[in-house]
Amino acid sequence: MNLSKRVAVAQSVGIDIGGTKTLALAVSSDGTIRSRRQHATPKGEVEIAKLVVELYRELANSDLTMPLGIGVAGLVDRSGRLFNAPNLVAVDGFKIADLLKPHLTGRLYVDNDANCAAYAEVHQGALRSVSNGLLITLGTGIGGALLIDSRIRRGAFGMAGEPGHMIIQPGGLLCACGNRGCWEAYGSGAGLRNLALERIKSGRLEVIADLIGTNYAALTGELIAGEANAGDAQTLELVEEYASWVARGLVNCSVLLDPEVIVIGGGIASDWALFGSRIQKWFQQLTQNAPLRQTIPVEPAVAGDAAGALGAALMCHLDTSGIQTS
Ligand SMILES: [Zn+2]
Repeated sequence: MNLSKRVAVAQSVGIDIGGTKTLALAVSSDGTIRSRRQHATPKGEVEIAKLVVELYRELANSDLTMPLGIGVAGLVDRSGRLFNAPNLVAVDGFKIADLLKPHLTGRLYVDNDANCAAYAEVHQGALRSVSNGLLITLGTGIGGALLIDSRIRRGAFGMAGEPGHMIIQPGGLLCACGNRGCWEAYGSGAGLRNLALERIKSGRLEVIADLIGTNYAALTGELIAGEANAGDAQTLELVEEYASWVARGLVNCSVLLDPEVIVIGGGIASDWALFGSRIQKWFQQLTQNAPLRQTIPVEPAVAGDAAGALGAALMCHLDTSGIQTS
């Protein structure tokens, strides 16, 4: 079924399990958020499953036939098993669907958080009325979702749309996945920090170096954005370099996918005035001579921090390739 055709289900619950917080929403089939709960994400898989069941029961008013959609920060295969989750390392291998199924009678869907965010953008955001688009989340890592012929594509094993591990600099910076030169090591929030550290070590980021001294843990995206927005020339040079790396990855995605639009979400996108215009400028420069037929707009996501949970709930209302376990 096309994503634009929606099943008339009264309501569903969407839960986004993030590295630090878990957000749960009760959502009508038209995308209206009816109620919302937020909780710190516990460490162990049994504790996470317990929290998910509690939040679900509360928001579903004990109607255990209500569908539940779950978005989780990591790769999810078609069996509902989570792995390669750098922000949820304590639960690597977590069989979410198996743990939850005994507690539910309704349908259960599990997908990664970027795919869920894309469902939200398709329903009421920057991917509305788009048949072929790409969502990239620039957070601690890089997430991705592929909208092809009006469907979110999950690939043979549920792993499609993870462009953060395209190698764009052979022998380059070390990535969280263990490889060197991945796009994520340059274009994510962690990548921004990597590039800043390189500049600090070569004396090219003096204001920030003076602020943090040897406390490298204080080197955050917020600090960098703050200094750039205050007009520090060296920090603005860093942001330019960072934007150029983001754009290189976007160009590679574009020549592969031929999207109508590229939508950028995640923490970096929340300061669109600083990062967005530079990413757009570099992207258009790099595609000027590339074999692309037309200009591809690069736009910010609009669903905000609730996108993952909202999309997880909407996933239940759509005939998608999400995991259905009952
Ligand atoms: Zn990698």
